[in-house]
Amino acid sequence: MKRTILHLDLDTFFVSCERLLDSRLNHRPVLIGGTSDRGVVAACSYEARTYGIHSAMPMKLARMLCPDAVVIRGSSGIYSKFSDMVTDIIKERSPLFEKSSIDEFYVDITGMDKFVRSSYMWSQELRQIILKETHLPISFGLSTSKTVSKVGTGEAKPNNHIRIAEGKEMPFLAPLSIKKIPMVGDKTYHKLRSMGIEKIKTVQDMPVELIERVLGKNGTAIWKKAQGIDNTPVIAWHERKSISTERTFEKDTTDVIKLRSILIAMAESLAYQLRNGNKLTACITLKIRYSDFQTYTKQRRVPYTSLDHTIIETVLDLFEKMYDRRVLIRLIGVRLSHLVGGSYQIRLFEDSEKIIRLYQAMDRMRDRYGQHAVKRAVGMEVKSIGGTNPFNGQPTVIPAHRRI
Ligand SMILES: [Mg+2]
Repeated sequence: MKRTILHLDLDTFFVSCERLLDSRLNHRPVLIGGTSDRGVVAACSYEARTYGIHSAMPMKLARMLCPDAVVIRGSSGIYSKFSDMVTDIIKERSPLFEKSSIDEFYVDITGMDKFVRSSYMWSQELRQIILKETHLPISFGLSTSKTVSKVGTGEAKPNNHIRIAEGKEMPFLAPLSIKKIPMVGDKTYHKLRSMGIEKIKTVQDMPVELIERVLGKNGTAIWKKAQGIDNTPVIAWHERKSISTERTFEKDTTDVIKLRSILIAMAESLAYQLRNGNKLTACITLKIRYSDFQTYTKQRRVPYTSLDHTIIETVLDLFEKMYDRRVLIRLIGVRLSHLVGGSYQIRLFEDSEKIIRLYQAMDRMRDRYGQHAVKRAVGMEVKSIGGTNPFNGQPTVIPAHRRI
């Protein structure tokens, strides 16, 4: 049976959130991202795009191109809240949905036509509800696969929708640039361009072997997507993998210094895994099992993050709040859940760019020399709780407006 897959994407999401909070930003070029000399544009409004500005462009250059643009630092806390509002609406109404990034969703509505008038109408109604309840502009594409629907959303934007009927996938894709295929990045795009390929139609007409010879396995995948073939399933959000780690002690302990340093190491290792997988977490859980086998867990929602110090702070704070029994501990563990993809944008305005560069350097060392190559001095961390961050001298406490 052919599937029916809906892809929803909030339009210029960060900008839309800022506009809800300050209507003076409406119809103006808005840039969100790092404000320092080495800052980068994380998101920009359509008005800014008419000046040739795009995300990932150096902020300095963007400001030169459009001196009248309003520049905003951005706040992951606010965006996370709006993202949750939209997620709740979709969750309540959808049979099976996947949250693929902070502002993007897939819903599998295969077979729905049997029960409601049509899946297209259902999708339009869902979009209207989101618009009415959140005032956030959102677009969607509806088709038989994730890829075609995602490309469809891109074509429908801004604030619109499209349906690609079964059998019409290839003619829909044909006139579009190969850049529109989700997995074609800059490098692949230039390679394909150097082969004289510009439109998806050219790939559709090519023998798969030819593109495979140039791009290897990637080439096969691109060729398939160009034909509108994509069987990737929608993975239910709650089933989406969380990452966790735990440790059982050989000898039960009440050594708080030791427990804290283990929790810090766990948080660091999980944060590294997140960044490596280009993911963010929005929920942190601490687990403690006492010597009498009583097990307790406590979890906390946080703004989407992949940074060590935010995760460490939360884990240690949960530990502080939970460990009041002063009883021997047998096991401790940390779990990160509510994972979504796309850490790049968020990290651009999360805390100082200096910290981000430090993490990147640390991660590169871990990539080269193994996960345990980089470790901070435990004393530094323990001292830093509620005090200052050892890397930038800034207070480690998350400001109230950025908490959820
Ligand atoms: Mg979006």
